[in-house]
Amino acid sequence: MQTIIDTHAHFHDIVDPVAALQASAASGVSDIILPGVDLRSNQCHLALRAAHAWPRLHPAMGLHPAYVSDASTEDCFVFMRAHMAEAVAVGETGLDFHYKWVRADEGKKKEQRAAFARHLDLAREFDLPVIVHSRGAWRECLDMVTSAGIRRADFHWYSGPEDVLKDVLDAGFVISCSVAVEYSTEVQRAILYAPLGSILVETDAPAKIPVPSGERVPSIPGDVWRALRAVAAIKGVTVDHALATVNACACAVFNLPGFKG
Ligand SMILES: [Zn+2]
Repeated sequence: MQTIIDTHAHFHDIVDPVAALQASAASGVSDIILPGVDLRSNQCHLALRAAHAWPRLHPAMGLHPAYVSDASTEDCFVFMRAHMAEAVAVGETGLDFHYKWVRADEGKKKEQRAAFARHLDLAREFDLPVIVHSRGAWRECLDMVTSAGIRRADFHWYSGPEDVLKDVLDAGFVISCSVAVEYSTEVQRAILYAPLGSILVETDAPAKIPVPSGERVPSIPGDVWRALRAVAAIKGVTVDHALATVNACACAVFNLPGFKG
């Protein structure tokens, strides 16, 4: 059976994680990267990995920019540092200046920058890649990542401008795309522009995805095949070629232990 890696899923938010793991394994998902967004999700992902051997689960330790002012922020950093050796990446971290009320709030932006900088320090210290959430702050995220001396980074669900994308790629970083590549013109443009070898696929599960009835339903990692097929169509390559290329890219970025393809 062909196997695929979902490079971004949030199992702490999935209602029935065991059913999602089983269904994803049945469709050929061999590996799932689990970015944390707060203390609880970082703890949840480590416990989930301890309880399930297949698909292989790879926690990443992070505090999402949307949660930087939570009461548990300091506890989260203590926990992340203590368990960073068990992680394949630092993230999900970054900046989110998408909303007007955040853009208008200098204090909020400062808080996000400070938390992001702490993640970048951890990534350098532990020599780990960074999963970057850069919505509405693409240029500033790239500037912070490069000036921190980070060597590996995934600009997750990249939907930003092409000039920043060019510099992301020139710096040797990669982008990941979700099932949104089926319908988002921003994501499609990014995938058209980036070389296939610099693209990862993900679901951001349980991010909602459209189904034939017209509804939007929560995704599971098995839906990553939809992102792959859309990438192959945009790049004009076979699904097999796209699969081999995105899997190789994921293994290189995340240095996946025990990956056999
Ligand atoms: Zn995410």
